[in-house]
Amino acid sequence: MIGLTKTTARELARRGITANAVAPGYIEFDMTKKDLPNNPCENCGICCLSFSLPPFDANELVRASDDLLRQVDDYAHSARYQDSNPCLWLDLDSGKCRHHESRPFLCRWFEPGWAACNDLRVKAGLPILE
Ligand code: SF4
Ligand code: SF4
Repeated sequence: MIGLTKTTARELARRGITANAVAPGYIEFDMTKKDLPNNPCENCGICCLSFSLPPFDANELVRASDDLLRQVDDYAHSARYQDSNPCLWLDLDSGKCRHHESRPFLCRWFEPGWAACNDLRVKAGLPILE
C-alpha cells in the first residue's frame, strides 16, 4: 500500500494532485497500555543518526511550512551539520525525535524490528528486536 501510494504520488504530482496514505502506528490507550512493552526506540535512536535532515520526500517538502524549510536550510549550513550526521530533529540527550508528531513519512514507515532496524542495531552492538 505504501509503495502504491508513493508511485501514485510521483505520477500525479506534476498535475498538482497529492496522494496520501494514512498509516497510524501503534495507538496507546487504556486497554493496551498494560500490554505495551517498553518502547524499543527509547534509548536507541540509531536510525535517526543515519540522516542529517528529517528525510522528507519532495511531496512533503512542497507542503512544508516556511519555518520548517528555514530550519532545514539553517541546519544545512551549520557547524553541527558539517561535523556529524544526527538528524536535525534528534534530541541527543533523550534519543527522541523533537517533532515526533510531524516526522516524515519515511520515519513512520521505518518500524522497530524490521530488517533495516535490526541491521543498524547489530552494528551498534544492541540486541535485535523480534
Ligand atoms: S526503529 Fe529501530 S533503529 Fe530506529 S530507533 Fe527504533 S529500535 Fe532504534
Ligand atoms: S525526523 Fe525525527 S524520527 Fe525522523 S530521522 Fe529525524 S529525529 Fe528521527
